[in-house]
Amino acid sequence: KKGPYDYLIVGAGLFGAVFACRMKAAGKKVLVVERRDTRGGNLYCDRIAGINVHSYGAHIFHTSDKEVWDFVNRFAEFNRYTNSPLAYYRGKLYNLPFNMNTFYSLWGVTTPQQACVRIEEQRRAAAVAEPRNLEEQALSLVGRDIYEAFIKGYTEKQWGRPCTELPAFIIKRLPLRFTFDNNYFNDRYQGIPIGGYNVLIDGLLDGIEVRLGMDFFEHRSRLEALADKILYTGSVDRYFDYCFGRLEYRTLRFETEVLECGNYQGNAVVNYTDAAIPYTRIIEHRHFDGSGPESRTVITREYPSEYRDGDEPYYPINDVRNEAMYEKYKMLADADSNTLFGGRLAEYKYYDMHQIVRKALDLSKREL
Ligand code: FAD
Ligand code: UDP
Repeated sequence: KKGPYDYLIVGAGLFGAVFACRMKAAGKKVLVVERRDTRGGNLYCDRIAGINVHSYGAHIFHTSDKEVWDFVNRFAEFNRYTNSPLAYYRGKLYNLPFNMNTFYSLWGVTTPQQACVRIEEQRRAAAVAEPRNLEEQALSLVGRDIYEAFIKGYTEKQWGRPCTELPAFIIKRLPLRFTFDNNYFNDRYQGIPIGGYNVLIDGLLDGIEVRLGMDFFEHRSRLEALADKILYTGSVDRYFDYCFGRLEYRTLRFETEVLECGNYQGNAVVNYTDAAIPYTRIIEHRHFDGSGPESRTVITREYPSEYRDGDEPYYPINDVRNEAMYEKYKMLADADSNTLFGGRLAEYKYYDMHQIVRKALDLSKREL
């Protein structure tokens, strides 16, 4: 046996926390090290003006995986929040995801048949046989009106590239619906932990030794000597000293403001789909859980930008060039029998939380 711990876990994000929790429950000794001064990775919440604020972007838990849902509910009670964002375009508000309310506001159509006819006409006019990029994918799925009002401007801001240069799969996340249902997600279960995500993370990490403010790479050899095995959840290119080059990300700047009013926009999420407005969305945190005083509210504007060294890497850019580079890193990672790689940064994949929980549960089962 190498050191006092069975597992060293690098990163106290959701992946690291779920894995740590399962391994501890099985009697393993684990140590978690985290670069930030906070636990939970991008789930971390702050309390501002009596309101629970999602510090690294709004997080809504949704899944159809019952085992995942039951697992997270062991650590936190979830409220019944249902995400139903609005889109602000040229001074008007529209419901998302694209549904009968959107089609009614956009075209005045009142029945699913009328909406289908409209969309079919537009799809045909687009005449895309085999979509080669995001623009063609969107035109072939929803037609030009919806593409131009709700997709083009938002997506080009979010990704900093023209839609004709983006991979088509990004847009498959947006469903098209012929009912008056504004629920953004199709999943069976959805909600936000009562008291915020810190409750979930505290529950997962209960009784586990976590060293905050500690970067693995600053103490690498000392830390490696402490445990038999490592679970690494940081950036995979960093782990291998960028030997194949740097993977690209999009980052976000969050501009948070306390306002002297109890209700600023009447909804948790409003997307700004005009290209001319520099932010992509405004989050009003109190609407996630109804918390907060009557006289104040907290809002956050999200400004996407290109990632530079030292920024937080939020969104992997899964285009052909970056995917090819990641595949090389993955070969090195697979060949490293002492280190496990898991999560959004180590696998360079845009995972939602339920996918992270699923992956971390599966990995812990394999290890035990
Ligand atoms: P992370 O949360 O990034 O955790 C990795 C941790 O490792 C971090 O704390 C990091 O500081 C630490 N670390 C990295 N390198 C080192 C090092 N060298 N030494 C020590 N520690 C290190 N998912 C949903 O399901 N619903 C949503 O609504 C949703 N909204 C999102 C909105 C935004 C803006 C973003 C960015 C993400 C959103 N997600 C959402 C995705 C969700 O955040 C991820 O699925 C989840 O946080 C991934 O967990 P992780 O542990 O893999 O990564
Ligand atoms: N998107 C869009 N218009 C919108 C919302 C989303 O075109 O009003 C596109 C955009 O390309 C975005 C993708 O859909 O990157 C996924 O958006 P979603 O809000 O589901 O993902 P998130 O950024 O919250 O992870």
